[in-house]
Amino acid sequence: MVDFEIRPSPLPASPAQRAAALAAPGFGQVFTDHMVTLRWSAGSGWHDGRLEPYGPFTLDPATAVFHYGQEIFEGMKAYRQAGGSIALFRPEANAARFNRSARRMAMPEIDEETFLHALELLVTQDGAWVPEGIGNSLYLRPMMIATQRGLGFTHPSDSYLFCVIACPATAYFGAAPRALTVWLSEEYTRAAPGGTGFAKAGGNYGGAFVAGRLAAERGCDQVVWLDSAERRWVEEMGGMNMFFVYAPAGARPRLMTPALTGTLLPGITRDSVLTLAALLGFDAEEGRISTDQWREECASGALTEAFACGTAAVMASIGTVRGVDGQWRIGAGLPGPVTGRLRDELLGIQYGTRPDPFGWVH
Ligand code: PMP
Repeated sequence: MVDFEIRPSPLPASPAQRAAALAAPGFGQVFTDHMVTLRWSAGSGWHDGRLEPYGPFTLDPATAVFHYGQEIFEGMKAYRQAGGSIALFRPEANAARFNRSARRMAMPEIDEETFLHALELLVTQDGAWVPEGIGNSLYLRPMMIATQRGLGFTHPSDSYLFCVIACPATAYFGAAPRALTVWLSEEYTRAAPGGTGFAKAGGNYGGAFVAGRLAAERGCDQVVWLDSAERRWVEEMGGMNMFFVYAPAGARPRLMTPALTGTLLPGITRDSVLTLAALLGFDAEEGRISTDQWREECASGALTEAFACGTAAVMASIGTVRGVDGQWRIGAGLPGPVTGRLRDELLGIQYGTRPDPFGWVH
């Protein structure tokens, strides 16, 4: 594991400033007092680990990341537990995904121990920033950028910067659960076989804004991405995976989530929901669903709920689906009971109000 030098900020925020940061509108606008940085260079590997005051970088305009987008990131949260301690949720899974992203983008991997240590250093130093209250958390953003100077693009960068920053967060779609309206993106696609869809690479998100803007213009909260070949099979949403729930009255609920074909991000929440569903006695499987089937099964009443899940929003019900050919409602168009049951279970484990049978809490 790499050693980190500790350089505490001479001017940490006051309790009043921290409270104001949590109350500030918008996600990811105010950051904690510190950040962790770590550098990699060919020949030396990872070195110069530091916990230091949060602040800007100075980079040459010809730095590789500005031109060829060699960048990856992660997203995870620290949760204030009922007893006052602080927990991360499955950070080993984020470390593993970060390294899968790194491999796809021809970037160096970080050993799990160093990755976790960097997170722990920041969360410990800025622990006072982890807010209380279910739905509130400290969002952690590890990232890596290519720092070699020069415009040649026949080979990947020979130096990299890893950094972790953190910001306090409240419930993503507001405190009261509501059902989302989603837009089927038939014009733009997010990922193609053999591409970078499974990696958490910045370019995947940069390429998605245009569809997000279109969705907002159509009165929708989120984009639903379809497969790039047929524009028919549902893949995922902008920052969340999707589940479809079949729970007609009296029947044992069955959940289906699109299989990991390489074009969608393997969400840690998705994986946790698959595991939790079994614990609750629901059937859960990976499969595929077309937009036509989605519409027909809502009309017939077989498909009773759909929800999106991810670190930022935890679980959000989908109430209405809109596309160029019109729209339809899922169930009553409101947050559904199976979604609510799974959400309570997941939040309970994350906030330490329920037992953690899987050893997910760190
Ligand atoms: N899909 C995409 C495209 C995402 O950006 C995210 C957020 N990381 C997810 C799904 C959900 O992943 P997780 O549950 O690990 O947050």
